[in-house]
Amino acid sequence: MDTNGVTFERRPTRQVMVGDLPVGGGAPVTVQSMTTTKTADVEGTLQQIYALAAAGCDIVRCTCNEPEAAEGLAHIVPRSPVPIVADIHHQYRRALEALEAGVHCLRLNPGNIRRPEHIKTVASEARDRGVPIRIGVNGGSLDTALYEKYGGRVTPEAMVESALQEIAYFDEVGFDQIKISVKASSVPLMIEAYRQLSEATDHPLHLGVTEAGPPPAGLVKSTAGIATLLAEGIGDTIRYSLTADPVEEVRAGRQLLEAMGLRERKNVDLIACPGCGRAEVDVYEVANRAMEAFEDRQIPLQVAVMGCVVNGPGEARDADIGIAAGNKRGHLFVKGHNVAVVPEDEMVDALVDWADFIVEHGVDAALERVDSTLAAREAAGDRADLLERQGDDANHTGEIVSLIRSHRN
Ligand code: SF4
Repeated sequence: MDTNGVTFERRPTRQVMVGDLPVGGGAPVTVQSMTTTKTADVEGTLQQIYALAAAGCDIVRCTCNEPEAAEGLAHIVPRSPVPIVADIHHQYRRALEALEAGVHCLRLNPGNIRRPEHIKTVASEARDRGVPIRIGVNGGSLDTALYEKYGGRVTPEAMVESALQEIAYFDEVGFDQIKISVKASSVPLMIEAYRQLSEATDHPLHLGVTEAGPPPAGLVKSTAGIATLLAEGIGDTIRYSLTADPVEEVRAGRQLLEAMGLRERKNVDLIACPGCGRAEVDVYEVANRAMEAFEDRQIPLQVAVMGCVVNGPGEARDADIGIAAGNKRGHLFVKGHNVAVVPEDEMVDALVDWADFIVEHGVDAALERVDSTLAAREAAGDRADLLERQGDDANHTGEIVSLIRSHRN
């Protein structure tokens, strides 16, 4: 993503290694998700892990809620293409079993593994094996004593105190390979909790809005919380918690990081005009078809879908490749230069073909791929034809302005 030179300064944090993957300490912000299968179902879980990794997931978490899940992890870890985190609630023995299974990280919830000796046993074992732990404080399962201490409410201070208490247990056994999250379903609450936590510690932070719900509300809430913090330089790894296929979580996470210039573009950045009186096609429909065509392809280009050839190539001149409609035809342009004309129903296929070509050979080769004078002439002809048919003022702006002025008299 071209951010026009604007970058977000990141808060310095320590670095932990999740398997071979660095988190914090200036490493690229990573995307996480969680499987929804029974972890004991090894093949089913691995299928989901492969799909998540293919969508760009860097780290996958699997529940380790029963002994069979820990045994499943022993089969899953060696075959997984990405590091695996075991999610532990209530039973510290599952944490020990998950470590035995070779997981690359544990996630513990301080609200439901309460006994200090259990926490220290797990931390000592993780320390000896060089495995990091995420302290996953969750607003919905805050330690009861802290809940009461803060007046029967979940507050940012209570969440931060819960995390710091857990760190203190880890300190006692000399364990510092820690990541921390203070997730809540309330966006303002989680933002403030992370802000306070980032002042209190330099351990890497895992960001998320918990129980965000199904899209689009879940996407909006997650983005509001995660993006706000990332723009302040806070956050080293992220997860969208959506009530949806976890692959959707990964796509959203990657798109956010790419949009904010925090990760290299891996997938298409599809831009489209909103359509107006000049539009020669249903821009919404063509953009959706293009989105579907590019969905599973790793094409790191900006692709434009524009409603008319009058303004489209100019308005989207920075796009690597784009298409604009005119006279039942699609005008393909590369970096604002017309390169080809195709029938309207072949617009999306042509877009994909040219995008593939650019990925393989580069923009300059694409501009030399054909004699573009013909395409430019055809585009100029269709542009002139549209202007003649629609006039200079296809959106009737002049009439509207006159109407506005008439109200003043
Ligand atoms: S002028 Fe053309 S490119 Fe611009 S919004 Fe209207 S249809 Fe889209």
